[in-house]
Amino acid sequence: NSTTLEQIKNTIKEKSVELLHLQFVDIEGILKHVTVTTEQFEDVVEGKMMFDGSSIKGFSPINKSDLYLQPDLNTFAVLPWTVEAGYSEARFLCSVKNPDGTLFEGDTRNVLKKTVERAADQGYTISVGPELEFFLFKTDENGYPTQELGDKAGYFEPSPYDLGERVRLEIYRALKAMGFTIEASHHEVAEGQHEINFKYADVLTAADLATTYKWVVKTVAKKFGLHATFMPKPVFGINGSGMHVNMSFFEGSENAFFNPSNELQLSKKAYQFIAGVLENVKSFTAITNPLVNSYKRLVPGYEAPCYIAWSTSNRSALIRIPAKRGLATRVELRCPDPSSNPYLTFAVIAAAGLDGIEKELEAPAQIKEDIFHMNEEERAFRGIDNLPGSLAEALKELEAGEIASQTLGEHVYTEYVSLKKAEWDSYRTAVHSWEIANYHSKF
Ligand code: GLN
Ligand code: MG
Ligand code: MG
Ligand code: MG
Repeated sequence: NSTTLEQIKNTIKEKSVELLHLQFVDIEGILKHVTVTTEQFEDVVEGKMMFDGSSIKGFSPINKSDLYLQPDLNTFAVLPWTVEAGYSEARFLCSVKNPDGTLFEGDTRNVLKKTVERAADQGYTISVGPELEFFLFKTDENGYPTQELGDKAGYFEPSPYDLGERVRLEIYRALKAMGFTIEASHHEVAEGQHEINFKYADVLTAADLATTYKWVVKTVAKKFGLHATFMPKPVFGINGSGMHVNMSFFEGSENAFFNPSNELQLSKKAYQFIAGVLENVKSFTAITNPLVNSYKRLVPGYEAPCYIAWSTSNRSALIRIPAKRGLATRVELRCPDPSSNPYLTFAVIAAAGLDGIEKELEAPAQIKEDIFHMNEEERAFRGIDNLPGSLAEALKELEAGEIASQTLGEHVYTEYVSLKKAEWDSYRTAVHSWEIANYHSKF
C-alpha cells in the first residue's frame, strides 16, 4: 500500500523519528523488539531485518535460527513518551518470515492470520473487543514491584479514593496518540485494579491493540513509579483480572449474530457460535488461561466464571450476551485472562465458534440464576459442567481435544504444550508458602 508508505515517510520527517522499534511477540505473547535507525527504513519495510530465532521462546531450533521481520504498515505508531523537540521514536508490529519469504509457522500472529483466512473462506470477518483489567502496585526504592497495592478504592470510585486517575489519564493520552479509540476508563472492583476500554476492531487489529495496550500500560505506570501487572490473580481474596473477549462475525457489513425477529434478537449462527464455544471451551482453556495462577482466578465469588453456561445478563456465567443489538450484537466470553497470548486466545475462540456453525450445534438453554449459589446437585441436574480447575487439568483437556492442535498448527502446538508442561512441573514440585504455613509446625 504505497499511500500508507508515503504517509509513514511524511510522519517520520514531520516528527523527526530517529529510531524504529521492530516488534513481534513470542509464544506467550510477550512483546520483543529490535531497534534500528530510520536510515534503514527502505530495508526495514522490505522485510530485510534478520534476527536470531533460537533466542525467542517457542521459535526455532539453533540450526534453523535465521528469521526475518516484515513490518505491518498499519501498525506504525510514534511513541508519545519519546517525543522531544527534533527527536522521537516509532514502532511497527511485524510478522515473522522464513528466509524463503514464507510466513514462519512459529509466529502466533501468523497463526491468527490463518484463522482469519479460514473464517473468510466461509464468508465471515471476525470482530473483537477485548477488555483487559490490570492492577497497579507500588514499587520500592530500586523501582522493583512490591506487594503493596496502589490504592484502596473500589468499583467506579473517583479521586481522592482512586489514586490511579492520573496514571490512567496518561495511559489514555498515550493510547489515543497511537491511534486507539478509547471508550471508557474506570477503577475496577478490587483495590488497586483498573480498566481502560478501547473500541472493537477486526480480530488481527484487536490482538495487535491488546498487545500494544499491555506494553503501554506497563510503560506509563513505570513513569509514575508504579508497577502494572496483568497477572490474573495477584492477590488472594479479592477479584482477579480478566480479559473478557467480545466477539462477533460479520457477513459483509451485516452482523451475522443479529436477528431482530428472534426472541433474544440473536441469529441461528449466534446460537451455533455459543454452542461451539461451550462445546470446546475445556479443550482451549489452557490457551485462554495459560498460567498456574490463572486457575486461582477461576473460582466462585469473584465475578470470574468457573461453570460452563451462557446467559443474557448473568455475570456468573461463562458466556454473557451484552444487551446491545444491531451491529453491536456480540458474544462475551468471560474466562480469558490478560496473561494469555491474544493472538492465540482470539484464534481458538473463533475456531470454536466456527466449529459450532459448521456442525450446526445446538446451544443449551440459558441459565438466568446465579450459578455461584447453586449446589453441585443443582448444577448437575441442569447439566452445568466445570471449567478445568488447574493448569494440569486444562493441559489434559487440551491434548484430548482437537481445536488447539488444529488452530495452532504443529509448531506452535508442540512448543506450547512442552512449555506449559514444564511450567506445571516446576510448580508441582516447588514447596509453597501455603504448605509451610499449614504443615511446618503441625507435623
Ligand atoms: N474482574 C472480573 C474478572 O475476573 C470481571 C469484573 C468485571 O468486569 N465486572 O473477570
Ligand atoms: Mg469491562
Ligand atoms: Mg471489568
Ligand atoms: Mg465485560
